[in-house]
Amino acid sequence: VVRYRDIRKSFGDFEVLKGLDLDVKQGEKITIIGPSGSGKTTIIRMLMTLEEPTSGVIEVDGEPLWHQEVKGELVPAGEKHLRKVRGKIGMVFQQYNLFPHMTILKNVTEAPVHVLGMSKKEAKEKALAMLEKVGLKDHVHKYPIQLSGGQQQRVAIARALVMEPKVMLFDEVTSALDPELVGEVLGVIKDIAHTTNMTMILVTHEMDFAREISDRVVFIDKGKIVEQGRPEQVLENPKTERLNSFLRRFR
Ligand code: ATP
Repeated sequence: VVRYRDIRKSFGDFEVLKGLDLDVKQGEKITIIGPSGSGKTTIIRMLMTLEEPTSGVIEVDGEPLWHQEVKGELVPAGEKHLRKVRGKIGMVFQQYNLFPHMTILKNVTEAPVHVLGMSKKEAKEKALAMLEKVGLKDHVHKYPIQLSGGQQQRVAIARALVMEPKVMLFDEVTSALDPELVGEVLGVIKDIAHTTNMTMILVTHEMDFAREISDRVVFIDKGKIVEQGRPEQVLENPKTERLNSFLRRFR
């Protein structure tokens, strides 16, 4: 459902991604691990159309993301095309960025009503079901500031899910949280992973979580995929010294 082909990305003189090829199948859960600065967030941001690749093609559902076909040729995509493909992708960031002046319920119903044109009634029903799924049924009329960081991050997850994206992206969603709040957020993501057929791409430094949730772990270093495979293989039997020394930091 997602395909990166020979993706290169530079910021100025610095080439972050050096020819990345990655295929993610419908329903697959993949976790990207790697040292700081290796390009993990960039991979995710390009899929969310927040960052344009310098060269190469990204496809979602067989449709080019950053390009569109005009008379049989791929040309840079216009804003309309980007918006359409973006609708298939949901993302949760490290910073949850809720609207502070809106209740939790309103935070979750806002996009379905204004972006998808869903009726208020339907959006509310969906939002309540989603907020119940992330364990926040009793907090729907509160404002973000009244909730803990972990609760706010769970609202951000519900807000992304209510749009029913084909692909969900989670970028280090627990990095900004106090340690005691990490578990509840990872628990919610695990639950979604185990109970839905949604395609998920995650970036995380939580190796136990990666092991439990992923169909595949992808280790990236210096802009290239160095190793990938089943979590038990990649995390327990690394083939390269680079991965081995990276994993030692978590033991
Ligand atoms: P981390 O684990 O620290 O989040 P990462 O693997 O996600 O790292 P990226 O955020 O993808 O790494 O960044 C890769 C490199 O690209 C970094 O060196 C970063 O400084 C650089 N970079 C990212 N975004 C930009 C930008 N908009 N402008 C300039 N440089 C950038």
